[in-house]
Amino acid sequence: MPHKILILPGDGIGPEIVAEAVKVLDVLRADFGLDAETEQGLVGGSAYDATGTPLPQRTLDDAKSADAVLLGAVGGPKWEPLEIAVRPEKGLLGLRKELALFSNLRPAILYPQLASASTLKAEVVSGLDLMIVRELTGGIYFGQPRGVRTLENGERQGYNTLVYSESEIERIGRSAFEIAMKRDKRVCSVDKANVLECTELWREVMIRVGKDYPQVQLSHMYVDNAAMQLVKAPKQFDVMVTTNMFGDILSDCAAMLTGSIGMLPSASLDANGRGMYEPIHGSAPDIAGSGKANPLATILSVAMMLRYSLDEDGLAQRIESAVSTVLDQGYRTPDIFAAGANEVGTAAMGDAVVTALRANA
Ligand code: NAD
Repeated sequence: MPHKILILPGDGIGPEIVAEAVKVLDVLRADFGLDAETEQGLVGGSAYDATGTPLPQRTLDDAKSADAVLLGAVGGPKWEPLEIAVRPEKGLLGLRKELALFSNLRPAILYPQLASASTLKAEVVSGLDLMIVRELTGGIYFGQPRGVRTLENGERQGYNTLVYSESEIERIGRSAFEIAMKRDKRVCSVDKANVLECTELWREVMIRVGKDYPQVQLSHMYVDNAAMQLVKAPKQFDVMVTTNMFGDILSDCAAMLTGSIGMLPSASLDANGRGMYEPIHGSAPDIAGSGKANPLATILSVAMMLRYSLDEDGLAQRIESAVSTVLDQGYRTPDIFAAGANEVGTAAMGDAVVTALRANA
């Protein structure tokens, strides 16, 4: 059976960067034996314009029957005046919810060729390759009760609830351990078990799940120390697994270690390995249509898709080494440009990756 991939270009630079990822998929199908069918759909502002909703039923049905979804980006100033229920971002959030994508994978990889793009010293970050696994559908962002209430003395009080059930912790734990098995086999679980009972349970369940993965080394770190260690010595980490809110904060911090938003892919997985893959950046309305967007984050999202949803690790590695080759060759889109490099636009960067893929066949 061929793999089924739904492609959702979205808004702004989305269609431009996704077109380059599609070139890569086409080469893998033509020259490297990838057995996959692709279909395109609408999401975000462009879906709203065409159908009146940012997440058409057809897109949702197609996503549910696909093995993986590749998404560009959604949003832009054109749709900001719309009411929240039909804003482009609702398309993305709706997909995550309806597909039960609870495991958010945010790698932070710094190719040695781009070490000078980081605000940290090159020796601290060069060669960085860490994976943050963030729980995406539970925790304090969804816990009940929540709200703002008025106390007897008339003062208002805001409150939210941090809740995790054992089963929620266990499934994100398994997701992290499974990923570690495909990497350096080290998991660091980040919590605040010294203060929050909920994350005391988190730690207890992580230890229990870890017993099923004896090859993986499990360690624990309080979130405040983890934030410090991420900027002090980020290369100590392989896989970090943490709650929704801690992961939200730490993954943005880790992304910035690399200095370039145009290089970072992400994945959101369900319990069966089906996933949605997208660059971490947005629709970049400021450069949309100019042909300057960096397509590498989207191309690297295809690599993640091959590894985590389609069980094609060899093809994933081919894409990653082709990206490394084009960086070695000096190709740079403007966002990662440095003196002496060969500045190229979106399509030329995609073409360079395709050429490198074919050359390494
Ligand atoms: P953004 O990530 O779109 O852009 C931030 C900056 O990074 C801009 O200067 C942009 O030009 C640059 N940039 C982003 N991607 C790039 C790439 N591939 N190559 C070169 N430069 C790149 O964030 P923003 O400006 O805060 O948001 C713009 C729109 O995107 C908003 O509507 C926002 O809601 C939406 N957004 C969508 C997603 C998503 O679809 N997952 C994520 C974040 C923001």
